Amino acid sequence: MVELRELRTCPATGVVVLINDAWPDAPLPALAPSDPCWACSDPGPVLARRGRLVAVPHPVPALGVEGEVRAKVERPGVRRDAVGVHELMFGGHDEADPDALILAFERIEDLRRDRRLRGFSLLRRAAPGRHPLWELFAIPTDLAPTDARAWCAHELVDGRRLIARSDGAVAIAAWAPVAPFEVWVLPEAGDGDFPVAHVGVARLAERVLGAMARWLGGPEVRMTVEWGTPWRIVLRPRLALGLATDAVGLPGHGVFPERAAAELRGVLG
Ligand SMILES: [Zn+2]
Repeated sequence: MVELRELRTCPATGVVVLINDAWPDAPLPALAPSDPCWACSDPGPVLARRGRLVAVPHPVPALGVEGEVRAKVERPGVRRDAVGVHELMFGGHDEADPDALILAFERIEDLRRDRRLRGFSLLRRAAPGRHPLWELFAIPTDLAPTDARAWCAHELVDGRRLIARSDGAVAIAAWAPVAPFEVWVLPEAGDGDFPVAHVGVARLAERVLGAMARWLGGPEVRMTVEWGTPWRIVLRPRLALGLATDAVGLPGHGVFPERAAAELRGVLG
């Protein structure tokens, strides 16, 4: 077999990725089930509700609302307070609720009233036996939005990296994946602000996540919401990487997105 090596630049984010299929990537050991489950036992004060979903403050927040946003120049560098908000959102123990994105949107609208908060990130770590928890981070700097419209339109015509489409949503293997099997799920129309078409996108992301977990043997999968036109859910399974080029600022692994798309299409049927 001839090994393939490529450097790919993401058309939406500009990130450069090294893919070398001579370096196999292996699943990391599954996370132990959370027992006792913190979210089921002692989640603390509820900030907001939507159906069975609740938003609560993170018990050990990465950022805090107290402090000043202003940078302080001090030898030998610059320091600033980690001003921001870190919250958790969740529903039932074994269910991923597509309305989590609507609750997140409502929390973001509320947090925006604090004029110091400018950038918002959403992360969910999914693993078998673990309570699905969304983490919401609000930080005092803007996150630059990306424009994925031209890329998405091209991918829909090309088809080699297209994995699935349903309910106004499409799932496409990333052109320059920073992690093996990275998949972007986004509204098919290609425009519209978050959370337009949220239910179709969230449901398709869950289906692809299930297929990914079955195919890879159940590693943790990180799901993030990324801003831009259009907004999207990005899925990245955690695998032990053969390449360690991320240590020099060049994310690398061994799975070409064309192979990832073909394998995930096969699992989805
Ligand atoms: Zn639980």
